[in-house]
Amino acid sequence: MSDRSPLDRCPGLLRPFVADDGALVRLRMPGGRVATSVLHDVVEIAGAHGAPVMQLTSRGNLQVRALPDPLPLQLIEAVEATGLLPSASHERVRNILAAPLASDLDGLVAAFDQALCAEPRLAHLPGRFLFAFSDASGSVLSERWDVAYQRESPTSGTLLVGQSGREVHPDDAVTAMIGVALRFVETAPDGAWNVRDLPVTSPVFDGHTPDLLPVVAPPLLPGVVGADVVAGVPLGMLTAEQVAALASVADEVVLTPWRSVVVPGGAAHLDMLLRAGLVTEPDGPWARLSACVGAPSCRRTAVPTLDLARSAAESVASRRLTATQDVHVVGCERRCGTGVSDRVLVAPLTVDDVVSALTSTTTAAIRGEQ
Ligand code: SF4
Repeated sequence: MSDRSPLDRCPGLLRPFVADDGALVRLRMPGGRVATSVLHDVVEIAGAHGAPVMQLTSRGNLQVRALPDPLPLQLIEAVEATGLLPSASHERVRNILAAPLASDLDGLVAAFDQALCAEPRLAHLPGRFLFAFSDASGSVLSERWDVAYQRESPTSGTLLVGQSGREVHPDDAVTAMIGVALRFVETAPDGAWNVRDLPVTSPVFDGHTPDLLPVVAPPLLPGVVGADVVAGVPLGMLTAEQVAALASVADEVVLTPWRSVVVPGGAAHLDMLLRAGLVTEPDGPWARLSACVGAPSCRRTAVPTLDLARSAAESVASRRLTATQDVHVVGCERRCGTGVSDRVLVAPLTVDDVVSALTSTTTAAIRGEQ
């Protein structure tokens, strides 16, 4: 078994990444489901140490940055007390997406998380390795997962490994996924972080039919879904005020990989969610606009990408946007946080460049797009 950990810099609570603005901690939320009391506790802990905002990541996790380096023991213990760290050894490999509206997958996700943490060898998975669970809708299968399970009915489903797959009964899905992950750990060459890095002859694909394309749904947009709400979080920056609003509406919410939160029963409390700065327009700028953290938090750029994105959003706020492509603003060629379907704009940029990308319905190149 190769040990890739010396090169794997995905952060966790016990191994923060030190950025220019301080220590950065990532907290895993398997399936995105989290109690609002836990969100409240984390934002309080972060705020007490100088970071009152939490970032939603593109894998449905939470990130807190600009924390003291080294992290105070008191902070680590306080986060551990929220229950967000059930396994110290496996903290960075619990990257598990689930279709945010399919609450009937919760049992499967919980069983998988437990099995993952119970297998010592899987602590050696790369931190970039991503698991996904979906239902027949194909929600979250649009993301860059490595191993996924699509439950098509209570008695049938497909295990997906990269672009290959095989039929697996839902009762056997956890064991089958753990088996594939173990084969990856045991046979992947050094430097392979994901299934897509493997040759087609890899034993990881054994027993699977190649070129199997699952049903895939596009990302959820902000808006009302029955009694629930998909609440967009501008730039994925979840504030203490927004967490308080979520907590007053629901005991539990689901973080999505698309800078939004599913709020059960939220449709009856739209005003409160909007007042806190959450958004529900599917055709507004915050449904499609994102940015890396940029300056001054990151020294690789002098461009304040977040401010640039906010200014662009403000200037199109009164318009209904008919363009459909996501726009991601980055400060340099590292392109942090780029999503699967993003139109990426690389600084130097102006607000007008970002507005053009947001409003353009053609594929003509925009300045900064590379
Ligand atoms: S894309 Fe560049 S500027 Fe933006 S956060 Fe990443 S390294 Fe920093």
